[in-house]
Parts: sequence; structure tokens; C-alpha cells
Amino acid sequence: MSGRMGVKRCPYCSTNLNKGDTRCFSCKRKVGEANKDGIAKKPFDWKGYGMSILATIAFIGFMWWAFFRK
Ligand SMILES: [Zn+2]
Repeated sequence: MSGRMGVKRCPYCSTNLNKGDTRCFSCKRKVGEANKDGIAKKPFDWKGYGMSILATIAFIGFMWWAFFRK
């Protein structure tokens, strides 16, 4: 094991955080539990993932509408 117990590092900006922290106080991003290297995991962003899918569908729909309508 590397690093001290009770501490994990932000995966985005490498700031040291308490193990129970769910958000980095430095870069304000959400962080998950520490992995074996003491680096916090990046939590899966379902909302962002869904929004990107919706945006892609909307874009494809718009392209279809713009170029293939009769
Ligand atoms: Zn951070």
C-alpha cells in the first residue's frame, strides 16, 4: 500500500482529500472511493452520459431532417 490511511488524491488535480470526501474542495469535481493506489475513482456521470446521448440523437435527427427530407 502506498500513501497514508484515510487520505486519497483527487484524480483530476491530485489534491489530497479525506477518505470520506465525495467532492474535491480544490477543483469542485465529484470523486469516488480511493483505489489501491490511493487515488479517488472518477464516479460515472449518468446525467452527463445521458445528455451526451440525447445531444447525439438530436444532432443525427437534425442532420437527417436537414439533408434527407423531401
Ligand atoms: Zn480536484
